[in-house]
This record gives sequence, C-alpha cells and structure tokens, in this order.
Amino acid sequence: MEKNGKIGALGATGCSQVQERLFRYLSSQRIHPALLFLGPDKEVKFQVAKGMAKFFFCLKKNKTAFCNTCNNCQRIEREIHPDVYFFKEESEEALKIETVREVIGQMRVSPIEGPYKICVIEEAHRMNAAAANAFLKTLEEPGEGRYFVLTTTQPGSILPTVSSRCIEFVFRPENEGLTLAEDTRKKYSDLLKEVSKTRNFSQLTASLEEKEEALQFLQFLQSEIHNSLIAKEAKKERSGLFDNISSHELTFKFEAVVTLEGQLRSNANYGLMIESLLRNHFSGV
Ligand SMILES: [Zn+2]
Repeated sequence: MEKNGKIGALGATGCSQVQERLFRYLSSQRIHPALLFLGPDKEVKFQVAKGMAKFFFCLKKNKTAFCNTCNNCQRIEREIHPDVYFFKEESEEALKIETVREVIGQMRVSPIEGPYKICVIEEAHRMNAAAANAFLKTLEEPGEGRYFVLTTTQPGSILPTVSSRCIEFVFRPENEGLTLAEDTRKKYSDLLKEVSKTRNFSQLTASLEEKEEALQFLQFLQSEIHNSLIAKEAKKERSGLFDNISSHELTFKFEAVVTLEGQLRSNANYGLMIESLLRNHFSGV
C-alpha cells in the first residue's frame, strides 16, 4: 500500500463488505495511521469505525472478525474504553481549533491499557481551516500505535491537505444496486451517453422530475462507477459506461457524486446541482 494512496471504492452491498475489506487491510503488515471513511450514510460509517476499534482491541478476534462479547469489545460498544476516543457530531457547528487541540493532547499521552490508541472524528469536514492546519502534523505522524479514523458525508468539503494524508474507504448505501431496475439503468445510461457528447446536460436534469429521481440517478452513477472499479481491480473485461476511465479518476468522480448526494439531501435545487456535477465530471465520457 503506497502512502497517501487511495484504496478505492469498496462494498458491493454496503457495510458488511466494506468492513470485511477493511479488516483484511488491518490484518496487513503496515497500517496507515489515518483512515478516511466517506459515503452518504453517517451511522453506517460510525458503526464500522467502532468495529475497527473492536478489531484492534478484541481479546478473541480471528483474522477477519472481532467477537463483540469480550470485555474490550463491550467497552468500545458502550464508548467507555479508555484508549478509544469518539468525537461525535453533536451539531452542525464547525470543529474548532480548541477541539482539535484536545484531540491532539489526548492522543499524545501513552495508551492506558495499550498497545493502541484510536480516535474517531465524525463528520470531519466540519473542521475549519485553522483546526485542520493544527491537525496536520499529528495526522501525518500520530506516533506508535496511534490511529485516526475520520468520517464524512461530504468528502468534497474536506480540505485536500487533510484528505491527502489519509487512506480513503468509500461506502455505498446499503442495497443500492438492488433498487435500480434494469430498464431504469438503461434509461440513465443512454441519456448520459447522449448528453455527455452534446454537453446538453440540462436535457438530462430536466428529465429528473423529483428529488427522489435525482437521488436515484446519483445512485446509478455510484453503482456504475463502483462496478467499473471492482472489474478493474479483478482485471475483468467489461463493457460498462465508465470502463475506459482510470481507477484514480473514477475514485474522484465517485467522491464528487457522494458529496453531491449529501448536499442534495439537504437542498431543494437538485437540477442545477446535478447539471454542474455532469458538466465538471462527466463531459465526453
Ligand atoms: Zn472481543
């Protein structure tokens, strides 16, 4: 695993497969000290972060799972383990420099029970620039046995200085692939092919009559990108919509789509937002 690299988009059916993949990574020789979990579902990412902490500390773990019953697993579940910190999102407020200094201070102290110390920061895009800058050095070299997990529903709002120091894990919504009927897929696929050539993106957004439909279209993009990424990784031949695009590029596009989905859920003007996404990321695909 190259430092500051991207693991790619994970999880064919959501949480359990991302977790499995994550644990395989954690069982590898060298673990990057800063992981970034991104995707639209806040709770799923938090549970997987918790699972990761259990995996580190579990007294009865095997190669791919923690037991969830031992003393350590139980204390992490109840969020009272002394070497696992959770900075949860309590409000939409920005994460201030004071909070980040508190995090840094706590992580600097030696583990109480050891040998690890884990800090989970939820919705890390709330970090303002001053807080992020104060965090960079610790994020890069947190010290022996220290690990950070940052989660976000808006990866586009994370400062690049922060995300470039993390290994990214991308979470897709649960069951997403199953909810899209084949004719819906074909409709979106044909439309996208057409408008990405003519660059008449408003033609596509005009066909999305409700916000639900707009979200469905974003799920379609995510699942197409995801399938391409999986095929590339397995070195399988495939003739999907995005198969000519590199994995690196696809991961960026995936992030843009996930970010927009997060924004769309709290914003009414979906037409313009999707049009701008297509213009920036899907011209001439
Ligand atoms: Zn356990």
